[in-house]
Amino acid sequence: MNKKLRKAVIAGNWKMNKTPAEAKELMDGIKPLVKDADCDVVVCVPYVDLCTVLEAAKGTKIGVGAENCHWENSGAFTGEVSAPMLTSMGVQYVIIGHSERRTYFGETDATVNKRIRAALNAGLNVILCVGESLEQREQGITAELVAMQTKIALGGVTKDELKKVIIAYEPIWAIGTGKTATAEQANEVCAAIRSVIEGLYGKDAADAFTVQYGGSMNAKNAAELLAQPDVDGGLIGGASLKPADFAEIVKAASK
Ligand code: PEP
Repeated sequence: MNKKLRKAVIAGNWKMNKTPAEAKELMDGIKPLVKDADCDVVVCVPYVDLCTVLEAAKGTKIGVGAENCHWENSGAFTGEVSAPMLTSMGVQYVIIGHSERRTYFGETDATVNKRIRAALNAGLNVILCVGESLEQREQGITAELVAMQTKIALGGVTKDELKKVIIAYEPIWAIGTGKTATAEQANEVCAAIRSVIEGLYGKDAADAFTVQYGGSMNAKNAAELLAQPDVDGGLIGGASLKPADFAEIVKAASK
């Protein structure tokens, strides 16, 4: 498969960090360091920071995303935010199915699917997260599990809509733990995900499909991970809050 067919995407996931004032400061730090990026750069930020970050990203090529969205356009869903609300602000991306949502907030493959379909209907680009726990890896069911997560999440998504979807392979045991998957482990599962996409949508779609790795990617290990043939980018948590480290990862993806 030809990696050159695919867009490298480095996306920051700020999680529940940064007030609007701090978000502006972080964007001021990131912007000059990624201005020559030869890959797509995205920052996914808390809802309350979206206005500030959208304003800060004006005139740059940095894409702005939210960290979740609801499947209904509006209604009695206290505390939720809909996909059309996000697009109305100018938000371009949304993370769906992050393992922290699945683990702490009862997100299931079925609700992930509903959220993805709503996001695509509204015109958002989706970063879908899949990945196994340590126990599941030790049971030897990683490939089966991510295949199932991928298939359920993409139920009803057309080949045309798939162009707006990225999958981030995020082994749960590597997120925020400082434990990174080896480059071989990351590549193996990213390739398995691409095979699932090929089975569902055909080889052309799979060849063009961006699969990121996420899980303690940092300035030191990014180059090796991103050099793998099936790793097309990264979803970055902790290191996305440090401008120099985030920029180093963007640089590694720009090679
Ligand atoms: C994430 O939040 O998606 C993530 C990969 O976090 P970290 O880089 O901190 O492991």
